Amino acid sequence: MTGERHTTRTRLVHAGSDPRTQRGYPNPPVHRASTVLYRDTAEMAVSQADPLKREMPVYGRFGTPTSMAFEAAVAELEGGHGGVATCSGLAAISTAVLSFVRAGDHVLVTDSAYLPTRRFCDSLAALGVETEYYPPGIGADIAALVRPTTRLVYLESPGSTTFEVQDVPAITAACRARGVTTLVDNTWATPVYHRPLQLGADVVLHSATKYLTGHADSILGVAVCTAAAYPAVRATAMRLGQCAGADDVYAALRGLRTLDVRLERHQAQALELARWAGKQPGVAAVLSPALPEDPGHDLWRRDFTGASGLFGLELDPRYGPEEADALADRLTLFGLGHSYGGYESLVVPCEPAQHRLPGTWRGRGPLLRVHVGFEDVEDLKRDLADGLRALPPLPGPA
Ligand SMILES: *Cc1c(COP(=O)(O)O)cnc(C)c1O
Repeated sequence: MTGERHTTRTRLVHAGSDPRTQRGYPNPPVHRASTVLYRDTAEMAVSQADPLKREMPVYGRFGTPTSMAFEAAVAELEGGHGGVATCSGLAAISTAVLSFVRAGDHVLVTDSAYLPTRRFCDSLAALGVETEYYPPGIGADIAALVRPTTRLVYLESPGSTTFEVQDVPAITAACRARGVTTLVDNTWATPVYHRPLQLGADVVLHSATKYLTGHADSILGVAVCTAAAYPAVRATAMRLGQCAGADDVYAALRGLRTLDVRLERHQAQALELARWAGKQPGVAAVLSPALPEDPGHDLWRRDFTGASGLFGLELDPRYGPEEADALADRLTLFGLGHSYGGYESLVVPCEPAQHRLPGTWRGRGPLLRVHVGFEDVEDLKRDLADGLRALPPLPGPA
């Protein structure tokens, strides 16, 4: 175990690891387990009296030494009280949201949220919970939207499709003053580059499927909570039957050990490719808060210590979705597919305007989301250049 005096880089190496409890081996075994056997009924009674304590889990669904090591590691990295592992990132999101709302409540969700998050929040209407979307750049003005029935405000910064950076401390301060819980999706930055709990958030959400695991070989989520938020989220996960697969938590725990070095390469390659791509004919803009010309750059510099490998490529508005699709189809190194955070470069055409509130998405041209993996960046440039060259010529400057 590491402490506050260590940096994130050091904590990534040791967090959640307790070799003395496993004969000196640093990595925990993969516990595939359902039944927990008790010595006697007295021990059984102690274990069942307070399942939240989790010193001895009651049953495999409530956690194993492997899942608890992963939860402890991510909680330590985020500076949280406890983590709750779930079967997917979306499950961490739905579990956390359901922990705080009941019929009659109102929730505010950023208009830049990951689309399945949006679909889940829309479905809350069936439970009598009203979802209202707000523009991601709202900052402290969120206060004007808070009603007496507002229970939570949901943030995702930067938005994982459109990359708007949110003013996390301004929003969390306004919410805290009004007793409103804040949830932040931190999948893009990971705790290596951004720590929303330190900026006043109550719960941080991760799709551990992405950078934390890092090899495109598992689906996993985690909600990291303050001490005040933790009991509600843990209890909801238990009620819903949420748990994480043994191999997935093991893969994520292993991924954490190399997260810093992987992110360094993702960041360097993505920055180089984004800068280069912004100057190519047919490209209208590159969306990445790490670029000085990006509208989110100042907030990103203030609140983040780095950028990951995911950015947006907006084509000239005289092109349509057909040209974006044709470009994606021509690429040979960039795989066409969802997700990100693995070693391989990926591209996916997106149409954010179809889901957004009118006026909150500034983009005009067709959008491709690019994830930069570990191929040689010069090979990636050549692949993208070949794809762009094959677009139909445009008549002069835009
Ligand atoms: C992928 C993703 C999710 C969902 O995670 P899964 O593990 O795929 O369920 C949530 N939020 C963001 C920002 C994501 O990129």
